[in-house]
Amino acid sequence: MNILVINCGSSSLKYQVINSDTEQCIAKGLCERIGIDGSQITYAPAGGEKEVTVTPMPDHTEAIRLVLDALTNAKTGVVKSLDEIGAVGHRVVHGGEKFAASTIITDEVMKAIEECNDLAPLHNPANIIGINACKKLMPGTPMVAVFDTAFHQTMPEEAYMYGLPYEYYKKYKIRRYGFHGTSHSYVSKRAAEVLGKKYEDLKIVVCHLGNGASISAVKNGKCVDTSMGLTPLEGLIMGTRSGDIDPAIMEFIAHKENKSIDEIMTVLNKQSGVLGLSDNLSSDFRDLEAGHNNGDANATRTLKTFCYRVAKYIGAYVAAMNGVDVICFTAGVGENAALVRSMVCEYLGYLGVTIDSAANGKRGEDIAISTPESKTTVMVIPTNEELAIARETVRLV
Ligand code: AMP
Repeated sequence: MNILVINCGSSSLKYQVINSDTEQCIAKGLCERIGIDGSQITYAPAGGEKEVTVTPMPDHTEAIRLVLDALTNAKTGVVKSLDEIGAVGHRVVHGGEKFAASTIITDEVMKAIEECNDLAPLHNPANIIGINACKKLMPGTPMVAVFDTAFHQTMPEEAYMYGLPYEYYKKYKIRRYGFHGTSHSYVSKRAAEVLGKKYEDLKIVVCHLGNGASISAVKNGKCVDTSMGLTPLEGLIMGTRSGDIDPAIMEFIAHKENKSIDEIMTVLNKQSGVLGLSDNLSSDFRDLEAGHNNGDANATRTLKTFCYRVAKYIGAYVAAMNGVDVICFTAGVGENAALVRSMVCEYLGYLGVTIDSAANGKRGEDIAISTPESKTTVMVIPTNEELAIARETVRLV
């Protein structure tokens, strides 16, 4: 069966078609600047030429119409008709406490997703628009929602509660939810598979280090803690997000710089992280690595602070699980930045970690980068959220 996987943002839409028998991606692409001047669609069939077409996309329905046209195009399409697409899997960012697993989309499910809009006002409304657009154009095709938060719903109360008045939890469901769940789930399972061990027997720390970054503790096949919170702002230092800070800093900056709460949130989400910490050198770790190698103090300070935070969270999660068997690195930085991995692992001597530098230099494969003697196994597992969404979709339809 072919599964169309949709990841819909407010002005962009990423898509992939995955054949569930071979688990290969047969086409993928991206619609950008939806509802804005200069919108364009990128379409890349597997083994074919990538096409970029600039064309008006006033809304998401038009964007999805263009995607479906590209997929069924007589010359360059990968399916003859839409009948060859058996189901659609939608990434949905926030499932609140309502969704601890993926689900077939029904009218009640749509209502429940809408009820989570308050918790992710930038993301969930866009996800809902994408689902509605698909429903309009593919009315008979089953659709599945796969939530970024679902994998983390197994966290115990002591891991998800904040030290705030309990009434805010009762009134507004303010608690830790965590994100990147599809990736944490995929990577932790894949690590067990690659090692030939039972998932349910392992204590795994997954470091998802991309432009957004989060870390999770997976004990006996269940997430027991994760670093992102009510929103994706908490935890690690990210590309442009601050991660953990003293909340009183917000009031301090507000007074000194005469900024509103909204303006401070923009600073914390868009101007902080490694971008801000490097004095605006870059949010891209390729630039930071190059800077560090050229003796740039901004780059070195940023990499050291980023890696220290990751190492500190690993320590916290080893404590939470009373031990660790496997530490996994994934996502853009985790999969590609050998320097970041080695700087993080320098803190892990107490876990008996020793790194094989030749293995750490490799790229693009599921691989152990620790030596056979290392007491804790350290791995790189490339994440594949689209495949995980396609698998969930097949399982449910
Ligand atoms: P993601 O959000 O998972 O797509 O990760 C994107 C980030 O990965 C980029 O912003 C870069 O910082 C980082 N990245 C991608 N390729 C490399 C590379 N070859 N070396 C170091 N960092 C990389």
